[in-house]
Amino acid sequence: GRHRKAGAASETCRRLAAEYQGHETRGSRACERGAPPAKGEIVRIGSGYDLHRFGPGDHVMLGGVRIAHDRGLVAHSDGDVVLHALMDALLGAAGAGDIGQHFPDTDARWAGADSRALLREVGRLIASRGFVIANCDVTLVAEAPRIAGHREAMCANIAADLGLERGRVNVKATTAEGLGALGRREGIAAHAVVLLLAGDSA
Ligand code: MG
Repeated sequence: GRHRKAGAASETCRRLAAEYQGHETRGSRACERGAPPAKGEIVRIGSGYDLHRFGPGDHVMLGGVRIAHDRGLVAHSDGDVVLHALMDALLGAAGAGDIGQHFPDTDARWAGADSRALLREVGRLIASRGFVIANCDVTLVAEAPRIAGHREAMCANIAADLGLERGRVNVKATTAEGLGALGRREGIAAHAVVLLLAGDSA
């Protein structure tokens, strides 16, 4: 249940500390599989970051939305930094590695991949590990194109692909104030943070 006694939290911390010490001796493949939530474990946090460079093109894909622009993003897939950062945050929270392990860019299957399909795959992996998503929050860093008019569509795509209520998804944007590579409009970056709940505490 949601309403746990104060003592229960410290007991959970002690038990998790003991378990994680045990994990050090296990095989490295545990990282790729993702650790299932331990009984009584309440929340897991994950962060993700991605960046793609501008190149020739007439649009960018951000949050699954095709946005007209005078340049494109150079990438093996569709270069959707919003969804890539989000997937890394989800995989990170589940202890399941990163998108490079799950969808290697050396694999022709993922050439030009629709990142929304990959996101749905990551969503299934998260659910199969017994986690539910409490919320996710993405920050785009871009001088151009303008994002404001597309934020709602991005949130709707993410909510649909992960089977979430719209209110559990947030996408926001900022500029780099003209500083550095992003400020010189050489590319677009995104940061993501997610919180997962263990299935039996959701
Ligand atoms: Mg990427």
